[in-house]
Amino acid sequence: MIQDISPHRFDRTFSREEAAAADIALCCRDDRILLRREGEGFALPRFADAGLTPAGRHVFSLDGVGCYLAAAPAEAPADCAYLTLQQVRQVRPMEVAFAAVVGVQLWRWYRDRAYCGRCGSPMEHSRTERAMVCPRCGLTEYPKLCPAVIVAVTDGDRLLLTRYAGRPYRGDALIAGFVEIGETVEDTVRREVMEEVGLRVKNLRYYKSQPWAFTDSLLMGYYCELDGDSAITLDTSELREGFWQKREEITPRGQDVSLTSEMVERFRLGKE
Ligand SMILES: [Zn+2]
Repeated sequence: MIQDISPHRFDRTFSREEAAAADIALCCRDDRILLRREGEGFALPRFADAGLTPAGRHVFSLDGVGCYLAAAPAEAPADCAYLTLQQVRQVRPMEVAFAAVVGVQLWRWYRDRAYCGRCGSPMEHSRTERAMVCPRCGLTEYPKLCPAVIVAVTDGDRLLLTRYAGRPYRGDALIAGFVEIGETVEDTVRREVMEEVGLRVKNLRYYKSQPWAFTDSLLMGYYCELDGDSAITLDTSELREGFWQKREEITPRGQDVSLTSEMVERFRLGKE
């Protein structure tokens, strides 16, 4: 998965250290991020390599190198390109994709917290933690994380797969949705399955979680079993397809960025 970058080290410790030429510049524009071409893949650009002046806000470090949200040049420097998040999904090595998408997540968040949601005053950066603080009313805001579920519904040797309607991602997916106010995560699992495909489920089993910066989410993956009738009633506003697929007919996924892929692959290999 995208966050599985060992032996590389992602360190989110807050720091106010100033940028140096050898540090990494995270330059974001229109939800795109600047990466430097390296061989067949991409690397995170250092200020010096991209001809950029070292300056910006420290957001995390990767293998001990500071990564800074920096002013984005209008034109990509030589050997660099602005990539969309869909393109970043395909970027390897994985630590580059992970740092890039978390960089975009934080850039979006700072951009969208310029003003206090309570009193409308311009927000300021906290000097002690990763937060925005209102100097007038004291409201403190932390980076947005939306809890959400990924649900693999099984029926013996069959897995329920879906395809989204109206989203850039076109491949097979699992049932997914955000946790709503006043709801337990288990309630979300049952509600999303009922809403999206009209099925009841039982025997919910938590698998694992994933930080999914693309949608500011914290994903929690569950396996569960069909309870009763298997006839699908599709919510066509969310999905364009929903279907049962036999274990042996599932397309192998290999190493991919998503918890969804890992969960589908585990089922395909008979581990669930
Ligand atoms: Zn305020």
